[in-house]
Amino acid sequence: MALVVQKYGGTSVSDAERVRAVADHVARTRRQGADVVVVVSAMGKTTDDLLRLASDVSTVQPPRELDMLLTSGERVSAPLLAMALAGLGVDAVSFTGSQAQIITDTTHLNAKIVEVKADRLRAALAEGRVPVVAGFQGVSLDRDVTSLGRGGSDTTAVALAAALGAEACEIYTDVSGVFSADPRIVPEARRLARVSFEEMLDIAASGGRVLALRSVEFARNHGVPLHVRSSFTWEPGTWVVEEDPSMEQAVVTAVTHDISEAKVTVTGVPDKPGIAARLFRALADRAVNVDTIVQNTSLHGTTDISFTVPKTDLEVSLDVARALAPEIGAGEVMADDGIAKVSLVGAGMRSHPGVSATMFEVLATAAINIEMISTSSIRLSCVVRADRVEEAVRLLHQAFELSGG
Ligand code: ADP
Ligand code: ASP
Ligand code: MG
Repeated sequence: MALVVQKYGGTSVSDAERVRAVADHVARTRRQGADVVVVVSAMGKTTDDLLRLASDVSTVQPPRELDMLLTSGERVSAPLLAMALAGLGVDAVSFTGSQAQIITDTTHLNAKIVEVKADRLRAALAEGRVPVVAGFQGVSLDRDVTSLGRGGSDTTAVALAAALGAEACEIYTDVSGVFSADPRIVPEARRLARVSFEEMLDIAASGGRVLALRSVEFARNHGVPLHVRSSFTWEPGTWVVEEDPSMEQAVVTAVTHDISEAKVTVTGVPDKPGIAARLFRALADRAVNVDTIVQNTSLHGTTDISFTVPKTDLEVSLDVARALAPEIGAGEVMADDGIAKVSLVGAGMRSHPGVSATMFEVLATAAINIEMISTSSIRLSCVVRADRVEEAVRLLHQAFELSGG
């Protein structure tokens, strides 16, 4: 029998009524003859609430304890959904990530999956039951509970789909697919019927949080087709699949934005070989994920280096840079958390010059200052003031005529 993995995000299971609606859909899928493995997120904003609670209790939050706390959200929604299914006469059984044998490395809060055994899920399926797996979590090689990073239930779902050889992985959320921009900011954004893994990777990496980046990497590496769709309307959504040469390659497919980063500037850095290497090695040693880097031309033998990091890594980055500054003969280290990044993503950008010129002109016309620029072969990103980023997204979406109507 065909197997499908269905993942339901937080808003899809935000209250009892939603849990019952999801159970209804799972039951319907079963009646249509498919085997189903369900992955659930924590209900509503539970993960954010737990993070806030931790901060209210203590400024000292050992990552192991945070993982024990945060993963509890999914431990609640999984058995509730199993009960709702039982109420509909569907034999369902819930599992934690550990029971599903999702084995990860030991990096708390952002663990990487190293192996998925899933024997108990296979056994449950063989008995005609519906496994309901708590998303976002695994068990480390040291036998501690780990979490897979924010949005990590997507990764759980794709990893299970790959391990179990599912036909597809359906990601149910509160929008009806992947759009040409966040539909909350650009209401006229167009739903994309199909998007390649390659473009989706850049969309996810540049702030389009509809799919977690890791889940897209996993899907591409294992050839798992993803279907992003709504658990409110149940209509067909967006397929994320291998690029097909006959697929039309839009110059620009989507405009994304990301408000999760901050900028660090190190001033008066001696302009000589080895300095940047020392700074970025020290950051890498503390597992800081540096994104955009800009180094100015040197004046009188010194220069400024600016880089962006996730806001969650800002404190560590400042500690590292401030500790190193005197050693490398640099001046001040400054932080700026009022930035945001706006990006254009499109596979056709490779063969179409002039996209950057248009992007900069659009921002210039609105007097939106560009503070940093970075590119990949199919992405163009500008760092701007956070309070102008939504306007930038709307203007670029309009200038590149992405609504298609
Ligand atoms: P879930 O809880 O179901 O995992 P998320 O909040 O993680 O849902 O992701 C869905 C949200 O992603 C949408 O509500 C939407 O605001 C946002 N989003 C950002 N960019 C896009 C995009 N390009 N297409 C669709 N949704 C997007
Ligand atoms: N509950 C987790 C989060 O909010 C994981 C997820 O929803 O995918 O990040
Ligand atoms: Mg999500």
